Amino acid sequence: MHLVTGGAGFIGSHLVDALVSRGESVRVLDNLSSGRIEFLKHHSDRDVEVVVGDLLDLDLVSRSMDGVDVVHHLAANPDIRLGIEVTDTDLKQGTLATYNVLEGMRKSGVSKISFSSSSAVYGEANEMPTPESYGPTLPISLYGASKLASEALITAWAGTFGTRAWIHRFANIVGPRGTHGVIYDFIHKLRKDPTALEVLGDGRQEKSYMGVADTVEAMLHVIGLDHEGTALYNLGTHQTVSVTKIAKIVIEAAGLQEAGITYTGGDRGWAGDVPKTWLNVDKLYSSGFQPEMNSEEAVRWCAESLISEIGL
Ligand code: NAD
Repeated sequence: MHLVTGGAGFIGSHLVDALVSRGESVRVLDNLSSGRIEFLKHHSDRDVEVVVGDLLDLDLVSRSMDGVDVVHHLAANPDIRLGIEVTDTDLKQGTLATYNVLEGMRKSGVSKISFSSSSAVYGEANEMPTPESYGPTLPISLYGASKLASEALITAWAGTFGTRAWIHRFANIVGPRGTHGVIYDFIHKLRKDPTALEVLGDGRQEKSYMGVADTVEAMLHVIGLDHEGTALYNLGTHQTVSVTKIAKIVIEAAGLQEAGITYTGGDRGWAGDVPKTWLNVDKLYSSGFQPEMNSEEAVRWCAESLISEIGL
């Protein structure tokens, strides 16, 4: 039995799909804060058991471990910008939630955790593309700090209680069912005003993107590798795409070629935004993983699928 925290969310629901298609049974624990029950509606109750509840409830988390072999811990606040407004968001939904997951596992004798971390742990890295061995890791967002703290708790559990762990440091993940992020924001802006698209920053921010289908395949590929101790992998693609390029792709996918692009200026979209992230993914690809899509293809796929989901 697989427990997927955040399994009603964007990446989590795709992971549930991949696990069910492999014949695995899945339990989802999600408080539906940003997740949606309809992302799981195509599954039968026999394949996917859904527990609606909060990771901050340690008793519930411990009870949810019953019969579980591996925990895929994805639940978190996904929006870096929220941390600016409510400064304990990531501490609670990231760090404390991860503590509860680990403590619930320890109490119930569950020993395997796969964790969704982020390139945000690297902060403004001066080595590009950034390998897993880069350090010191100095995040500049409260979200990045909570991911790094969660990684530290996981390795502490591994060292102290023998927990086996897989840590995935994601690039920007995009695709159908996305509920946040730059492509989602652009589509919503164009819905309000089809003539103009405002870009936060100067548009030169550059990040690597990975399609969500490739991401969940990569997660399961990494878990399947025979690793001693804690496995740490960057998950992404080899290329980056600029925000201006994304704006052009979204405008084209929307069929709104007349829309003009305006910029708020500055080198980043908001405080805590890292202007350039580019992960070194050699470790993933040399382990035998091949993605279906590069960064730009993933962005285009996401723009097209979200436009047909949300409508314009
Ligand atoms: P998402 O918001 O769609 O998924 C998060 C899920 O967790 C949601 O279903 C939400 O309802 C649930 N959740 C949040 N707090 C909870 C709590 N206290 N108790 C129970 N459930 C809770 O976001 P996503 O993009 O699918 O992100 C999944 C994971 O991947 C997150 O940990 C995120 O930080 C990480 N990540 C995502 C990206 C990306 O580009 N999408 C990049 C790096 C890392």
